[in-house]
Amino acid sequence: MKHLLSIDELTTDELQELLRITPSFAEVASRRIAKVPALRGLTVATLFYEDSTRTRLSFEVAAKRLSADTLNVSVASSSVNKGESLRDTAETIEAMGIDAVVVRHASSGAPWQLTKWLDASVINAGDGWHQHPTQALLDCFTLQQELGSLEGRHIAIVGDIKHSRVARSDVSAFTRLGATVTLVAPPTLLPPATETWPVTVSHDLDSVLTDVDAVYLLRMQKERMRESLVPDLREYTALYGLTAARASKLGTKIPILHPGPMNRGVEIAADVPDLDQVVVVDQVRNGVAVRMAVLFMLLGSGNSGLPTDSLPAMAEEVPA
Ligand code: ASP
Repeated sequence: MKHLLSIDELTTDELQELLRITPSFAEVASRRIAKVPALRGLTVATLFYEDSTRTRLSFEVAAKRLSADTLNVSVASSSVNKGESLRDTAETIEAMGIDAVVVRHASSGAPWQLTKWLDASVINAGDGWHQHPTQALLDCFTLQQELGSLEGRHIAIVGDIKHSRVARSDVSAFTRLGATVTLVAPPTLLPPATETWPVTVSHDLDSVLTDVDAVYLLRMQKERMRESLVPDLREYTALYGLTAARASKLGTKIPILHPGPMNRGVEIAADVPDLDQVVVVDQVRNGVAVRMAVLFMLLGSGNSGLPTDSLPAMAEEVPA
């Protein structure tokens, strides 16, 4: 496998295998010297045309823990501002010698386009409303840690589903691992044709919360809205926000996830993120390990399939 563009391009076996090997990479992070030589001599570039805190840093840390060199293109201060196209920018970076490019772009499909122009591996770190495959992987890994397995579990995904590449990626991954998913949102924040998705849809958060194994909250993605889709945010919060009252009805055992960035006071009440069952920090931590597994799968195993056999090589620590 050369690229990771969409969660649907992974077979269920590959998805499960990636999740199975992720703990080996998480273990590296817990070492005194959190670095292994697996990708020494290789270069990973990040090319982000949309804002990011977690994903870009997470890929950078993941690449560094595998000893790859990293190149971060800051689009805001690059020649993109002088009108350079995605193709010319990407080809310029590739000419400097890169082995993989991690790309985020507002246009759905941009990462597929890059694969036509570049020899390097391309990893989709979010394309428009469409896909965010490594987010789905880290969410599955976090849910497995919390619930043991996703098989037979009921997960509610709540909020702005319409504009969410996270929801599109998670629905595919969660259901393929055996979970049932209910999307909870006002009609204006649902995508068209949800009847073709493998989900149930509800507009009544309170009734859904009586019967869930995990709750996944999404941010209101105002940057993607061209019209006002909710009459006002206070009303949205009253109906669809995880208020302190709703969280206490949920009990203390049901994990609450969010991909970040959280808008405290909108989809989640200001003090709810401090509850023990909110696993947002675990998601971030797991994101590094999952992305190490992905980089290793694409670059580190000679592309001979998933790297199970190569894992012992990681035991070697880089000398201080
Ligand atoms: N960070 C996630 C994304 O890039 C979710 C969000 O922005 O709300 O899609």
